[in-house]
Formats: sequence, structure tokens, C-alpha cells
Amino acid sequence: MNSIPITSGVYVLVFHLSRKTDITFDRKGSQHSFPPGWYLYVGSACGAGGLRGRLARHQRHTGDRKRFHWHVDYFREHAMLCEIWYCATADSAFEHHWAKTLTALAGATVPVPKFGASDCNAQCPSHFFHLSGRPSTAAFRASVESQNLSTKVFVEFIEEPRGKKQAVREIHFEYLLGRQFLERRRRAIPESGLEPGQWDSLAKHRPARQLAEQVAEQMQVSFPAITEAIAFATAVETLIENCGADVLPVLFDPHRPQGRKAIMRLSRTSNVRQQYRVAGVIEGRSRSVAPHRDDSVYDTESVREVLSRLQRVRGILKILLDQLRTAHEDVVSEANRLSRLCRLSAQRLGDCLKSRVASASAVSREFHKKTIMSMLRSKAVTGGTIGLARLALRFTVKNLWNYEEMIRRGLVPTEKELQEILGEVKEIHDVTRKIECLAGSQS
Ligand SMILES: [Zn+2]
Repeated sequence: MNSIPITSGVYVLVFHLSRKTDITFDRKGSQHSFPPGWYLYVGSACGAGGLRGRLARHQRHTGDRKRFHWHVDYFREHAMLCEIWYCATADSAFEHHWAKTLTALAGATVPVPKFGASDCNAQCPSHFFHLSGRPSTAAFRASVESQNLSTKVFVEFIEEPRGKKQAVREIHFEYLLGRQFLERRRRAIPESGLEPGQWDSLAKHRPARQLAEQVAEQMQVSFPAITEAIAFATAVETLIENCGADVLPVLFDPHRPQGRKAIMRLSRTSNVRQQYRVAGVIEGRSRSVAPHRDDSVYDTESVREVLSRLQRVRGILKILLDQLRTAHEDVVSEANRLSRLCRLSAQRLGDCLKSRVASASAVSREFHKKTIMSMLRSKAVTGGTIGLARLALRFTVKNLWNYEEMIRRGLVPTEKELQEILGEVKEIHDVTRKIECLAGSQS
């Protein structure tokens, strides 16, 4: 920042907005919805402090010795400031020349007419522009220099940590916003005399809809924004229920921020997986709470889950067999290799359950997680058909991987369940044999 001169000049602020954001400007509540992407704001600094003072102000957030003054101040609270382009000049008309140059950049559009240009007498459509891709400094520089609108355009890159903090502020704000609704709903349910389930839906004419609309109005956000906030806050509350309140400093750690998507994805997994992931971040084993397929997590809660996984495998294999009839021979031979492992691992599961063994040797080397995972990750053959074969194998071996823990927890199938499981194993055997014949006839 110290390299920026204290003389007057013009500048462009380059912002990035990670997702669609509704922003309310001024106390009158005028609101606008901004699509994700890149935003360019052009301004000039002529007063005391010059460029350096003005650009330092733009970098700060409100409350940090700064009040809302310009439209761009409201926008800045939601976006990440990534770059500043500037040149020293005493000619304030440059601001409008630069705005016109930005208008001409490929893909530039005007998100809000006259934004930042309410006192512009030069008929600029706006001093604020949107681009879906990152704007090219080189293209802008070449353009202004060829028009003699600057001797040199300087570029200042803004440091990353500020951006991370901004991301945490955004999701934390969203959580608090959604919680406003959740808490008011909790209080409203007993008073309403309705079943709690009737408060789930946000569909029109449902009681929760009206409440969500009230909260949106009070908090000055749009209805789509409040529904997203409710979904996000619900996800966070689920994680608190399953992992304890310790999860909050993990999710909103300004030094190691978690992504919104990662939090949402984690909330949709089993409680065991959530605890595993959160503990991993606390203990420094991993950075992100995002669930990963290699997580060593036990999540078989009942024998029915084993059965339902096998039923899915059977369904997947039948579709696979159909698709293989017209598939390329590479695909057929790879699918055959995977489906053979499906058969053997299902067989092994059936044998173990029948003889009620409980030892570690239940999982042979052939089905070790490492062996299977490296096979599943091999992308030598690609496409939807081979994807089915991989999925079938994943579901089947999962039963074996969880087998020991399942027995340790006393999850032993009843005689009826055992017969159902063995029935599925037989079905899997038959269909994988058909795949084998198909592969044999091709080679
Ligand atoms: Zn202008």
C-alpha cells in the first residue's frame, strides 16, 4: 500500500463475488441481486490523502473506522477485493474515460445503471461493471495506453488472508440469519397447535412460509436469500446436534475457513462420519470438514443396511449387464474384472455370516481397502457404464469392511435376514456370471 502515491488519481477496484448475493443499499432498503463473478468499480481520488488514503479506505470494512458512504461500500462488505489498478493524474475526467474503456472490455455488462456514477456528467452508463471471467489487466492497460489515457497503469494485488476472513464473515452471517428463522419457528410451533412436521415446508400458504417472509423483510434480504440461509443454518445445527457445540469454532475459524459447500455436504452424511471429520480438523489430521471417500468410518447401524446395499448392487449389476451388450471390449473386460470382485466379496460376506465368524481374516487381502480403492481410482477406462461397475463393487466391499465392527456391536442377522442376504448373494452371483460369459464370448 505504501507504494501508492498520495497524489490524486483514478483507480479501478477489482472484486470477486463467489456466489449470487442480494445486497441492500442505504436505509431506504433499495436492493439488488448480484450474480457471481468479477466486478470492476472505477473511481477517482482528488481530496486530501489522495490515492493512498482513498484506496486504504476501500480495503477496510465498515465499523473499522469506516461508515457506509458510497454504493460501493455496501458491495464491498460482501465481495472480496482482489486487485486495484490505478494511475496518478490531476485530470478527474480520466475517471469517465476509464469507465468507457471498461464498458468496451469483452463480456462487460452493467449490473446496476449509474452505480457509482450518480453525479457523473459524462454520460457514463455506470462506473461499475460485471464480467463472468477474471478481467485482464493487460488488455485494460493496453487499451488505456493506446488512447493516451495513462502513461502507466499500476496494479496492486490484495493479500489473500483478508479474503479468507471475508469468506468466514459471509457464512457466519448466513448462519446467524438462518438461525433467526429457526429460533422463531421453534417458539411458534407450540403456540400454533400444529404438528411440528407441518412447519417443515416453505411452500406457499404453509405457516413457515409466512414466518420466513417476515424474517426476510426485517433482515432486508430477499426470499431466495433467506431460504438459502435457512438451509445452511439447518445444516450447521445438525452438525451441532451430532458433534457438540465445539463444531462452531471449527466451521467459522478465520484462519482456516471451511467452505459452505463442504459444510452442507458433511451435514448430509451419517453422524459417525461427521464426528470423524470434525475431530480430524480439531486434531490437525485434515484441513477440511468435507467428507472424503477414504474416510475410515463405520456407518452400518443395522443389518437392514447390509441387505439394502446388496439389493442396490443387484439392481446396478442388472443395468450394467444390459449396457455391456453394446459396450466396447475394453469396457466389458474392465467391468468383468470389477464384477468378479463383486461376486467374490458378496460370496465371502455370505460365508462369514453363515458360519458366524468374527475374526479379522474375514476380510482377505484381495478385498483390503487399499487394494480396492486403488482399483476404483484407476481411470484407464472411463464412462458411465464402467462407473456402474465401480459403484456396485464399492457397495459390496463396504459390507466386508464393516463386517468385524458389525459383529463386535452384536449386529447379527436373524435367520430370516440371513436368508434374505443369502438370496441377494445368489442373485449377485447369477448376474455377474452372465457378465463373465459376455466377456468370455467377446475375447
Ligand atoms: Zn462517468
